[in-house]
Amino acid sequence: MANPQEKRAQAPSSVASCSATDCKHNEDQECHAGEIRIEMGSQGATCATYSPTKPKARP
Ligand code: SF4
Repeated sequence: MANPQEKRAQAPSSVASCSATDCKHNEDQECHAGEIRIEMGSQGATCATYSPTKPKARP
């Protein structure tokens, strides 16, 4: 029987497809970051690893 206190082995992250083509980790809509972090905000889940190649202009 498995020990409930035992932590699961960490699975490698995999992103099926990403539409943030301006992210430096995005190549042909595939994420090559290796590992990403997801945050929950007022607009739902967002990728906290997102790194735009060009900073967005301030309004
Ligand atoms: S780091 Fe996040 S935003 Fe960037 S390509 Fe990967 S999943 Fe998309």
